[in-house]
Amino acid sequence: MKFIETRGNDGKKDSSVEFSQAILSPSASFGGLYVPQTLPSLDSDFLDKHINSSYKELALDFLVQFGIDIEKETIKEALNRYDAFDDSSNPVPLSKIEDDCFVSELYHGPTRAFKDMALQPFGYILSKLAQKKNENYLIMAATSGDTGPATLETFKNQDNIKVVCLYPDGGTSDIQKLQMVTENAKNLKVIGIEGNFDDTQNALKELLASSDFKDELEAKGIKLSAANSVNFGRIIFQIIYHIYSYLELIRKDEIKKGDKIYLTVPSGNFGNALGAYYAKKAGLPIKKILISSNVNNILTDWINEGSYDLTTKTLIKTDSPAMDILKSSNVERILFDKFGATRTKELMQNLETNGKYQMNDDEIKSIQEDFSASFSDDKECSKTITSYAKDGYIMDPHTATCIKAYKTLREENLKTVIYSTAEWTKFSPVVAKALGYDAKNDIEALDIISKNSNLKVPSLIRNLLDKDIIHKDVVQKENIKHEMLKFL
Ligand SMILES: *Cc1c(COP(=O)(O)O)cnc(C)c1O
Repeated sequence: MKFIETRGNDGKKDSSVEFSQAILSPSASFGGLYVPQTLPSLDSDFLDKHINSSYKELALDFLVQFGIDIEKETIKEALNRYDAFDDSSNPVPLSKIEDDCFVSELYHGPTRAFKDMALQPFGYILSKLAQKKNENYLIMAATSGDTGPATLETFKNQDNIKVVCLYPDGGTSDIQKLQMVTENAKNLKVIGIEGNFDDTQNALKELLASSDFKDELEAKGIKLSAANSVNFGRIIFQIIYHIYSYLELIRKDEIKKGDKIYLTVPSGNFGNALGAYYAKKAGLPIKKILISSNVNNILTDWINEGSYDLTTKTLIKTDSPAMDILKSSNVERILFDKFGATRTKELMQNLETNGKYQMNDDEIKSIQEDFSASFSDDKECSKTITSYAKDGYIMDPHTATCIKAYKTLREENLKTVIYSTAEWTKFSPVVAKALGYDAKNDIEALDIISKNSNLKVPSLIRNLLDKDIIHKDVVQKENIKHEMLKFL
């Protein structure tokens, strides 16, 4: 299976590449991204075959059918990373919260957010590839709070890989920050940036595009890769849990094979939603993908009105910081899939030059065949958390944005899966407040909620509070390059 480029080919790069190359060097011609040329079929036979498969068996077969150029043994080893999840036989449990609504909990991995679902196996494969080629790679991650910890965790002490992780100082929860600044391994460096997540992501993009930075790295024998969801190595693992949720609904007798369902995805960089889109395109019976946002609702406008306009928006800090994003990278892959490379390049260049683009009516219609969208503000999310907690289900503020989408966007009464992208323990002060508790800090919030709701705080979270702070640097955007070269 080959990978091609969303903005066409510049004549210098290969016009199609294998999976390994697409993940080792994820930047394509003209600043575009790699996308698969075809998808494996998720038809009725595939679903029959996997009705009793474990998560790992399903994932292995899906990846083999994808035709990626990674040895089967290596894929198997990568998938063994799911053994460290809370329940190795069922890494993504499905909880029923309404007669027709289920929460797929994607956060049972080591950093308690859904990023582990992809980054755990992806990190294993990437470092194996680097070792096999005897090359050294630098992974630079810009994080709004969950990618950072998950990236550090998957690569720590892995040979041939170094990680520099940039986070917006003050733009993450305390627990997220602790997860990063306490990571202690020789191949990891964490730097705080004065600014918000878009500033952080922009700083990273500028560095990645700068040729003299690349020259300096080359002189040190280091190549650049990336672990954010511009890397298709993340996306490929984010298709699988959508299939698994569907199979779980069949196994629980909630649907029959072939019945359509809705998926509700709390979105930021649109990687999770893109995985759902590819699953739908490959044949999984999905009626529509409901996209939920917080007040940084650029995706709501994009889907409802066809406009992507950065000029009228400024980033607002919310209680769901992993979704405080305006430049949503994976939207580009949808544009390519629907409208082709020429149009994608045109729209993306409009965005880069003028800060906005507008799709035409046919294009909007095409987007709306697969997606609907809404957003919730912090107050609405808080009320949602309070109301489900009364019924005994505690959800985090990102997951809470999904409830309004589920309640207002469905055109038919079909079973619906909501994706829970983080455990409440990562955002305990917000949850504590919603439940009416007065907590002075994260530690108190964790304790009050766990005591009153009879929930366990995983030791991975609790132990963070006693760990030494290893990474103390907070710098201005301009000084990142200097800090990085010092580390390397
Ligand atoms: C990353 C993240 C999201 C957004 O996911 P995308 O794939 O970037 O759209 C939502 N919620 C949480 C908790 C996350 O960590």
